[in-house]
Amino acid sequence: MKLALLSSLLRAVEMAQIDLNNIAHSYLAAPSSEDDFALKKLNVSWQDGGAYALLGPSGCGKTTLLNIISGLLQPTQGAVLFDGADITTSPPEVRNIAQIFQFPVIYDTMTVYHNLAFPLQNRKVPKHEIDARVRRLADMLELSKYLPRKARDLSADEKQKISLGRGLVREDVTAILFDEPLTVIDPQLKWSLRSQLKRLHAEFNHTMIYVTHDQTEALTFADQIIVMSEGEVVQTASPQELFERPAHTFVGQFIGSPGMNVLPCALDGHHISLAGHTINVGCNVTLPSGAECIELGVRPEFVKVTDNNDALPVTVEAIEDAGRYRIARLRFRGLQLAAILPDGAPPPSETAGVLFDADNVHIYADGHLVGKRA
Ligand code: ATP
Repeated sequence: MKLALLSSLLRAVEMAQIDLNNIAHSYLAAPSSEDDFALKKLNVSWQDGGAYALLGPSGCGKTTLLNIISGLLQPTQGAVLFDGADITTSPPEVRNIAQIFQFPVIYDTMTVYHNLAFPLQNRKVPKHEIDARVRRLADMLELSKYLPRKARDLSADEKQKISLGRGLVREDVTAILFDEPLTVIDPQLKWSLRSQLKRLHAEFNHTMIYVTHDQTEALTFADQIIVMSEGEVVQTASPQELFERPAHTFVGQFIGSPGMNVLPCALDGHHISLAGHTINVGCNVTLPSGAECIELGVRPEFVKVTDNNDALPVTVEAIEDAGRYRIARLRFRGLQLAAILPDGAPPPSETAGVLFDADNVHIYADGHLVGKRA
């Protein structure tokens, strides 16, 4: 009776909203300048049941942020709140977070079944519930046939799948954190595991935070993506918004294949001047005072290669076949840009012109998107 009560109490701990308020972190004991901080000051809210990705290049602070949420790291500044309660100084055990790392964390001498069951046995979950949950997860992760085998006899891929299963097996966690979990997984398996994780999220509705430097992983897994650069959050948005309205030139260039074209320009009312050539953007842009570097951003998808005389004159340097589409590598007065060629279009001649789709031209001041007014 007591055991049943304890287990139901333990399992009553449910997901929570996670807020990071003014978090900053330095690995130095006495940081003296902003450069000493691996994480600059940031505020992030993670809603119950959301599927998030933390995306950014190596060293931008993703793991540091994840470890602050799980409690493996205490931030130098700021507060971590779970459902409004300040748990900044609480140890990982209290936070009830499942974390899955790049490399398998499993018990080699235990069977696959026991590895998956262990986190539930520890929490005194009834045996029949453990069995049902373990078998269900094993099925989803295609581990069923290995359940009676010792984990040490399995391949690196399969061991990492056990790790994933151990992270996903509990129902009562506040959130599940994945730190580049597919690094050791065979490329062919990656795609199927990513889709399985998405399905698991839809089914169990846990808050999931997935760290990666791979935009495909982030875009396929998450509803909201937090893009980081040099210890800062540069944009939090849906995959579509990141594509259509990159808030920063870094986001435009980091996301997309190839990334957004970013070209230095000057502004005059409705007109953009690009190395002496004028383009009408059909709207007003108000620049922040003191802005030093003005740039135009346009994705290769919105650059049309044409023989129209009014177009921006370019030389075509190369045509690359990217499988699903072709990319024209172009040069305009020393500036390089890329265009995606429409299906079936004949290859352009060496000298051609380009037109930009005005609705999808963005203006940036010192890297930040500037609003446009009709
Ligand atoms: P990766 O994708 O390579 O893991 P990341 O985006 O997760 O990178 P972090 O591992 O959070 O980035 O590192 C952020 C910065 O903090 C880097 O400059 C890194 O060198 C530094 N750093 C990370 N861990 C430590 C540590 N234990 N001690 C000192 N500096 C650290």
